[in-house]
Amino acid sequence: MQSVGRRLSAATAALALGVAGAAVASPASAAPRETEKTATASGYGGAVSTVDPEASAAALEVLRKGGNAADAAVAAAATLGVTEPYSAGIGGGGYFVYYDAKTGRVGTVDGRETAPAGMRHDAFIDQGTGQPYRFTPELVTSGVAVGVPGTPATWQRALERWGSLGLAEALRPAIKVATRGFVVDSTFRQQTLDNKARFAAFPATSALFLPGGDAPAVGSLFQNHDLAATYRLLARQGTDGFYGGPLAAEIAATVQSPAKAAGTALPVPAGSMTTADLAAYRALDQDPTHVEYRGLDVYGMAPSSSGGTTVGEALNILTPSNLAAMPPAGALHHYLEASALAFADRGKYVGDPAGQQVPTAALTDPLFGKERACRIDPLRAAAKPVAPGDVTAYDGVCPATSAAPAAELDTENISTTNLTVADKWGNVAEYTLTIEQTGGSGMVVPGRGFLLNNELTDFSTVYDAKDPNRIEPGKRPRSSMAPTIILKDGAPFLALGSPGGSTIITTVLQTILNRVDLGMTISEAIAAPRASQRNTAKVTAEPDFITAYGGPLAGYGHAFTPSGDAFTSAAEIGAATAIEFGPGGRMTAAAEPVRRGGGSAMVLTAAR
Ligand code: GLU
Repeated sequence: MQSVGRRLSAATAALALGVAGAAVASPASAAPRETEKTATASGYGGAVSTVDPEASAAALEVLRKGGNAADAAVAAAATLGVTEPYSAGIGGGGYFVYYDAKTGRVGTVDGRETAPAGMRHDAFIDQGTGQPYRFTPELVTSGVAVGVPGTPATWQRALERWGSLGLAEALRPAIKVATRGFVVDSTFRQQTLDNKARFAAFPATSALFLPGGDAPAVGSLFQNHDLAATYRLLARQGTDGFYGGPLAAEIAATVQSPAKAAGTALPVPAGSMTTADLAAYRALDQDPTHVEYRGLDVYGMAPSSSGGTTVGEALNILTPSNLAAMPPAGALHHYLEASALAFADRGKYVGDPAGQQVPTAALTDPLFGKERACRIDPLRAAAKPVAPGDVTAYDGVCPATSAAPAAELDTENISTTNLTVADKWGNVAEYTLTIEQTGGSGMVVPGRGFLLNNELTDFSTVYDAKDPNRIEPGKRPRSSMAPTIILKDGAPFLALGSPGGSTIITTVLQTILNRVDLGMTISEAIAAPRASQRNTAKVTAEPDFITAYGGPLAGYGHAFTPSGDAFTSAAEIGAATAIEFGPGGRMTAAAEPVRRGGGSAMVLTAAR
């Protein structure tokens, strides 16, 4: 979940001090900084875009002191763990993509949460009834859905590979924010209220997020001294302090025997995670996916995320079509159809490559995309779901119709957060991180200040040996996170990403098309209304999109359903952040102007 107008001005905050979330601070020691939100910032010397001004300010502080984009990205992510604790934090995972200016290469770190070694194929089947657990309430709030967290290892690995700071220094701004506190806004309060029943089911969670039995008041100062102490532990001991020692034992104990409040009606199925699972966790170096699109080199996240292959395949499918020459509805029709085709292939072929073949090369092969493009009727939407293609036999020539498709159940939620950072040396970090559901599993590790994820709900619930996203011990559930870095002539052109579950893929894809094909600036491309076709009968779309294009697209046979999240009733799709690189070292950082209350773009030296 993303920030919505989280910060108040210093003056407002000073008036509001005295009511605290986890603790009360005196105005003198608190002094929350003024954090105006700007959706677009252009300038030089470094840039950052996140959903949250505290996190953007943390990144900027690191850049100002001479840190690079990797250092600043970790500092921003750690700060989001404080200010966006229901979206991201050390109890979760994510994917870090980095352009290293020295080598001119894009590398990635897969920090996805991982199933414990003891996870059984039928882990999501209720042994009492023989039926699959319901997504809500059983799976969402459970120990069985908690994956071994990857975020601390991701930070460590990103800093080792590309950073100039150690973990201790990179965590410093976040420790400061956790200690001095941040000012609660209506979204933080609302997100807490949305989670109130399940937070109340765990004494450790209610102690932190429901002080006095209620969500923190708007305008109060929320401090998280427990998290500050956990970050200090990481600063002292490195990731060993998380994946070993007492904290690892406490994480395993929380998963295996969730400490429930007396009288809660929530079932909270237990998980099997052990300290050995935590000790065995590794963030993985991965080659990025790569496709060429309109002369640009598009690098994305390879499986275990489906982000890179699905965005990449859709771009390949669109390559033969001259979107720029089409009327808007024509271009959007092609976008929707390409997306449906790529999602069909995602469903059939993509999962964690650990222990199975994932045809990443075929899925991102221009010839495969060209053949899949044969399925697009320029005047008529295909009946959905469309069938997947055959990655074992393609030649770019239009094939006969293949097997009947199956509709896919999509349970990914719209939480998560994304950030983009660039430095004066030309390095670029694009990082998406999550704890899955807004509020993750709902379980705080007692006294440690952070929520555990429920990422394993991204596995298919029912085991099918042919399903690439079936549950297996030690496996990573398929993600949709799509941090993307685009180069032009070998230098950064655009970096972008978004939260939003499986709509992440369509948000990134649509934003690229808006910018590259449809002549929008990056800020316009982000602000434009969104639609998401994930191979379903109806296209999910923001109300503004339906108003603007629903009529003409209905002429092509597209039907729409307005976007909305069952958990928070948000009508928005995604919350993108991006940086575009112009001539002479100019950077344009762009965030959402409106969605989720708007994000925060900053540059080191503003252009005049
Ligand atoms: N679990 C989702 C994924 O990995 C992210 C959650 C979200 O964005 O809501 O794709």
